[in-house]
Amino acid sequence: MFDYLVVGAGFAGSVLAERLANQLDKKVLIIDRRNHIGGNAYDHYNNDGVLVHKYGPHIFHTNSSDVFEYLSLFTEWRHYEHRVLASVDGQLVPIPINLNTINKLYGLNLSAFQLEEFLASVAEPRDKILTSEDVVVSKVGRELYEKFFRNYTRKQWGIDPSELDRSVTARVPTRINRDDRYFTDTYQAMPLYGFTRMFENMLNHPNIKIMLNTDYREIQKVISYKEMIYTGPVDEFFDYRFGKLPYRSLAFKHETHERPTFQPAPVVNYPNEHPYTRVTEFKYLTGQEHAKTSIVYEFPKAEGDPYYPIPCPENAEIYKKYKALVDATPEVHFVGRLATYKYYNMDQVVAQALTIFKQISSKELLEVAV
Ligand code: FAD
Ligand code: UDP
Repeated sequence: MFDYLVVGAGFAGSVLAERLANQLDKKVLIIDRRNHIGGNAYDHYNNDGVLVHKYGPHIFHTNSSDVFEYLSLFTEWRHYEHRVLASVDGQLVPIPINLNTINKLYGLNLSAFQLEEFLASVAEPRDKILTSEDVVVSKVGRELYEKFFRNYTRKQWGIDPSELDRSVTARVPTRINRDDRYFTDTYQAMPLYGFTRMFENMLNHPNIKIMLNTDYREIQKVISYKEMIYTGPVDEFFDYRFGKLPYRSLAFKHETHERPTFQPAPVVNYPNEHPYTRVTEFKYLTGQEHAKTSIVYEFPKAEGDPYYPIPCPENAEIYKKYKALVDATPEVHFVGRLATYKYYNMDQVVAQALTIFKQISSKELLEVAV
């Protein structure tokens, strides 16, 4: 008899399994249809002994001291500030766009003040910033938008930035200084021994049983449990009653090269000229020293494992219908990127799971009091 059946062993499921077992002494079965824990953050040593991220680059960053302190219970960290170059007009230049990007791209020597004036002169002011096109064009104008954002976004999402919520391209800021970090969060670090080791530590508790290679529907009827935590796609849970919620997928092409370094930056983005969006070289992220180096190409596609909820008004309407079903199903807690259809980073999923845990434990306390 389990207290909780946790569906999905990614961040959402693992945080809740850990908290429920550790803090409330609950008996938990955590189950995943994949053959590993960690969800999309899973990493492993490949055949050449290089630590790689199976589902594309995962870089941890957060402003939340609660999230960072919580995860620090299960891992030590390697300080890591992520940097990305974009391949534009035959050059590799920093993205997010900053002072060095513009100077290199156009062979200029502008100061920060002059860049501000330049951007103001090319920006297309918009009354309302609604879409991912508005965000960029209103800051850097059409030419830079076309060079850095338009094609990348069309490739990644299968729709034009003018049809995507502003939140998508708003993830990438514009800077007038020379700061070339991809993120500016207070905490930026990689788990010292990798994500999978961190998940192993989270789930290493006598009250937690792990079942892999199993869809929850295969065992749901033969296992007894009181409540469910569900972290898979929300539309699938309700048998696509309101139609499929669109998710964007990726094909990953992993390669290992017989040389210590492949490219001059951890990630190189290819907005325009290739079917892939970016190439990641893992050793920069992990700090591993190795005579060989492993990289991954990301090819966006519509079908396949659901990786990205697509934030746009039509999908928000469909999700709203599923959310009404979620609200009418109180015995199941829907948590994580797929179950709440939110384009969340890892830290946001951890924060969401910790919030759900607080709700569960206060409800429990109330019941005990009554
Ligand atoms: P998932 O990790 O997707 O876990 C859900 C699990 O549920 C899966 O393992 C799945 O197999 C399992 N499951 C689903 N349905 C069932 C079922 N019916 N039965 C059994 N098991 C089931 N975030 C960052 O913070 N930084 C990054 O750099 C970053 N890079 C990313 C790069 C890519 C290419 C992608 C796709 C995501 C990236 N993210 C990044 C986001 C990050 O992956 C997610 O925020 C986080 O992993 C979501 O955790 P989750 O537990 O909600 O979902
Ligand atoms: N983006 C872009 N060009 C870039 C980098 C990002 O157009 O060089 C847009 C694109 O729409 C992308 C979004 O900004 O999907 C968010 O980028 P981020 O790097 O945060 O994507 P993720 O790591 O989540 O795939």
